[in-house]
Order: sequence, then C-alpha cells, then structure tokens
Amino acid sequence: MEESQKRRIAEQHVLADKLLGLDAVPCDLGVIADVGAPSTIPSGGTGVIGQPGGGQGAISGSGHAGVGIGGGMPQKPMGGAVSNPTSGPAASGGMSAVEPIKVEDLGRDEKVVRLEQMYEGEVKDCRKCALARGRTNAVFGEGDVDAGLMFVGEGPGYFEDVQGRPFVGKSGELLDKQIAAIGLTREQVYIANVVKCRPPNNRTPVIDEVEACRDYLQRQIAIIRPKVIVTLGGPAAKLLLDTKEGITRLRGRWFEYKGVDPSIPVMPTFHPAYLLRQYTRDNRMKVWSDLKEALTKM
Ligand code: URA
Ligand code: SF4
Repeated sequence: MEESQKRRIAEQHVLADKLLGLDAVPCDLGVIADVGAPSTIPSGGTGVIGQPGGGQGAISGSGHAGVGIGGGMPQKPMGGAVSNPTSGPAASGGMSAVEPIKVEDLGRDEKVVRLEQMYEGEVKDCRKCALARGRTNAVFGEGDVDAGLMFVGEGPGYFEDVQGRPFVGKSGELLDKQIAAIGLTREQVYIANVVKCRPPNNRTPVIDEVEACRDYLQRQIAIIRPKVIVTLGGPAAKLLLDTKEGITRLRGRWFEYKGVDPSIPVMPTFHPAYLLRQYTRDNRMKVWSDLKEALTKM
C-alpha cells in the first residue's frame, strides 16, 4: 500500500474519532484492514469510546458537487408507492403502487444530460404541489452521478431553500462528517430528498406532497443507479420502502427499493437532525453501524 494511502486511512481514523466520537472506521474494506485497523471495530453495538465530538464545525460544506444536474427521462407519471421491503414487517405505506422503472445502463455523460433535463425542464419550476408556493429554490440533488452510495433525506430546510442545494445547513454539516468518516467525500456520493421544495417551517411533508414529488426521486434513482441507498429519517424510509413502520424499527436492517428494476438495497438510518437533537453515544453508534453496513454492501 502506498504511503499516501496509509496516511489517508490513518487520517480517517482520527477524523472518525474526532468528528463522530467513535474509535474506528470500518475494517470490512480490505484497504483499511491492511493497515491494521483496531480490532475494536464497532460491529453494531460495541467498541466506541466516543465523546460528543460532532454537531458542528470541522469538515462542513464540502462545496458543491454538480448542483442540480438533472436529466429527465420522459417517464410515465408514476402514481404510487415505490416498493416493498424484502424483509421485515413494513406494512404498506398507503401510497398507490408504482411500476418499477427498468433501469438502463447509462454512461456518465448521458446521466448528466438526463438529470439536467429533469431539473431544468421539470423540477426547477415545478408546481405539482403546494410546496411550490413557499420555495425560493427547488433543491434537486447533487453529487456524483455515478455514485455507488446515494443518500435520501426528507426535504430542504431554510439554508437548502436559499442555496438550492441539499444538506448545507447544520444537518448537512453532520452528514458531511459522516460521509468523511466512512472515507468518502460529498462529491463522491449523491444526495437527494423526498420532496424538492421546502415545507413551511420545515414541517414533515404531507402525503400529497410526497406523492406529487416521488416520481422525480424515482427517476433520479433510476438514472444514477447507486449500489446502495441510505435513507435519512422516517419520511425517506417510508417512501422508498412503502411502509408505515417507524424509523427506530427500520434502521439497521436491509430492505430493497423496488421502484427500479433491478431493485436497490436500502439501509435506513436516523436523520442527522435527529442525531443532533439526540446526540447520544448510542445513537451515534447506531448510525455509524448503519453506514458501515452500507459501505460494506457496496
Ligand atoms: N434535511 C433534509 O432532509 N434534507 C436537506 O436537504 C436538508 C435538511
Ligand atoms: Fe414539484 Fe416536488 Fe416542489 Fe412539489 S415539492 S412543487 S412536486 S418539485
């Protein structure tokens, strides 16, 4: 292994420790195991010496990564629910069933074009639901169109609405740290939301809004075709897994997003905003474990 690579891995350990209050980065990756990662890898509940390291500061806003590269396939309007979990109780979320989109093997350039078309031609000035009235900017999503890992949040908050970019406020700072702690950068993943416009006072989007917007996310996922999706918080998990189950019961378990064919593994985890409010070692541990699972799956 090259010196620079070793240094990067060592830095990751320090970062994970400092930022998340955890004592290790995933060792399932051959590359990290190489360097003799500590054996106290938190394999889902143990091995943390954390102190409340995170929350603010540090890595933060890693810059824009291809904002709103949109690109619209003229898909048929999909009405309803997107999928069922492969495992677990996930009772139907009460949304109408949706036909999965058959994914195509698209090159990077084609993905960029299609996403751009979707953003410019449909999302930017979308008025399909009442959230259009209160928005400053629609927040389409950003990141690497070829990302193996895609995060799906709930919807834009104040700063996201102002900037037109996902996760740039406090939650975004923590998400950036989480991404850094698994050895990636914001530019290497793709980040999107269930609804593209900010709900008033950051309230949870209601079912009509989610339904109106779902087609965009479904098509984004079909274009990007990540290897793994991590949903952040309850609404994203509920939408992608078509369940009413609460996030506490869903997180840490693998499901499948069936809104695309072939389906994509989904790992639900807590929303960064929840983590910031409940910044306990136990919760950090859980999110860490979920992210590690996702990374391993990739
Ligand atoms: N919370 C979300 O769910 N999404 C964002 O983009 C920002 C905060
Ligand atoms: Fe359109 Fe979605 Fe914005 Fe509603 S939230 S106006 S459906 S882009």
